[in-house]
Amino acid sequence: MKVVVIGSGMAALGAAHQLRSEGVAPVLYDKRPFPGGHTASFRHPTGFVFDDGPHISFTKNERLRDLLAESVGGAYETPQCRVNNHWRGHWIKHPAQCNLYGLPEKLIAEVIAEFEALQEAPIPEIRNYADWLVATYGETFSRTFPMEYGLKYHTCAAEEMTTDWLGPRLYKPDLDEVRYGATHPETPEVHYVSHFRYPTRGGFYSYLEPWVDDADLYLDHELVAVDPSDRRLHFANGRETDYDRLISSIPLPALVPMVAGAPADVIEAASRLACTRCMTVNVGVAREDISEHQWTYFYDRDYFFTRLSFPHLFSPETVPPGTSAIQAECYYSDKYRPIDVTPEECIERVVRDLRRCGLVREDDEILMTEVRPIRWANVIFDLDRPAALETVHGFLDDVGIRWAGRYGEWGYLWTDQSFVSGERAAAKVLSGGTS
Ligand SMILES: Cc1cc2nc3c(=O)[nH]c(=O)nc-3n(C[C@H](O)[C@H](O)[C@H](O)COP(=O)(O)OP(=O)(O)OC[C@H]3O[C@@H](n4cnc5c(N)ncnc54)[C@H](O)[C@@H]3O)c2cc1C
Repeated sequence: MKVVVIGSGMAALGAAHQLRSEGVAPVLYDKRPFPGGHTASFRHPTGFVFDDGPHISFTKNERLRDLLAESVGGAYETPQCRVNNHWRGHWIKHPAQCNLYGLPEKLIAEVIAEFEALQEAPIPEIRNYADWLVATYGETFSRTFPMEYGLKYHTCAAEEMTTDWLGPRLYKPDLDEVRYGATHPETPEVHYVSHFRYPTRGGFYSYLEPWVDDADLYLDHELVAVDPSDRRLHFANGRETDYDRLISSIPLPALVPMVAGAPADVIEAASRLACTRCMTVNVGVAREDISEHQWTYFYDRDYFFTRLSFPHLFSPETVPPGTSAIQAECYYSDKYRPIDVTPEECIERVVRDLRRCGLVREDDEILMTEVRPIRWANVIFDLDRPAALETVHGFLDDVGIRWAGRYGEWGYLWTDQSFVSGERAAAKVLSGGTS
């Protein structure tokens, strides 16, 4: 049986791993000239190593933890997670809802009064993410913090979004925690990630390297057409191949229009699936004590970036000695906030705001800057998604194309979940099914 897997990221490699364990050797194709998908890492000529967007591993799946540890021969770091927020000049411990200490007194009083009132309030109808936020944290906190952050990160208003992506992402404190955090600078750690792992050398991609080495992988093969009736694939470089079973980790809005015979309503449904684009700006600075936190959320609209990460705090070996690395994420989406800046402007604005918030000082030497646009970043859980996704998945199931990974499931999957999604897809196609 010839199984073809499209992609070479976590999902495709999860599928290949599962297939090989069942005695099937799949063939993988990826459009890019390098493997790894979103989990690729790049070494800049100045010696800085950046991932394709910041990537850390915080999986609770023991089997995956062991697999990843084995991949890098046990050479990984295990830092304790330190996260903070920046809002109107205040640096706030994360999560803000139970770390209000030092914020304007009027704001704290309003947040606590509303939080108290919520304890007695009947549970309201939750129609969208905005309703959920207000029912969980009250109006003032919601409108000041998560709704502002959400607008920058998801690119659409909370009223436009569902709540099925939340999982443990937003911490729900009790009233005592909110009151305590408003009056004490030190509070217990409650972030859903307490420690994470990161390869000591080579960036996140090091985790994938042994799997890529084992794979029968063809790079520079962009799939442009799929004919499910005669099970044939066509690539942009003119090559063609056939398959018995097909697993795809391609983003659904890109996959569906290339499937021969896809009905207009399915193509239209795929076009309604929204995803953010990320302009990732990498900056190397000649000073090592830039930040104590591995990442920081920025709430103010006039700050260009949404989140900063500091990869030298993932592993010191990602940077030259005595330096710091900063990775800024700036979000757009075709549906809600089309890109209106050039890569050069992105760099200018990021450097300007790094100086404005004081992380980079006027006399700091900037050793490198670069922009890496990410075409498919985070799936937007807008109100269009559930129905459109059902239509698209139903069609792919009917024509025997098995979808996998973050952009095949069209969910908020982390690396480990994408790998497992690939494994599940492999088990499915071997058992003769796709759905
Ligand atoms: C900014 C950002 C930060 C993140 N941080 C974390 C984190 O800290 N921890 C974590 O666990 N997860 C994180 N994630 C999630 C993580 O990136 C994903 O779960 C995972 O990498 C998705 O893997 P995948 O294989 O499903 O998709 P991808 O890695 O996108 O793989 C899809 C592959 O398909 C290929 N492809 C696309 N179209 C074609 C075509 N037409 N022909 C051939 N090949 C094609 C692509 O080149 C790519 O290699 C983050 C995601 C983003 C965007």
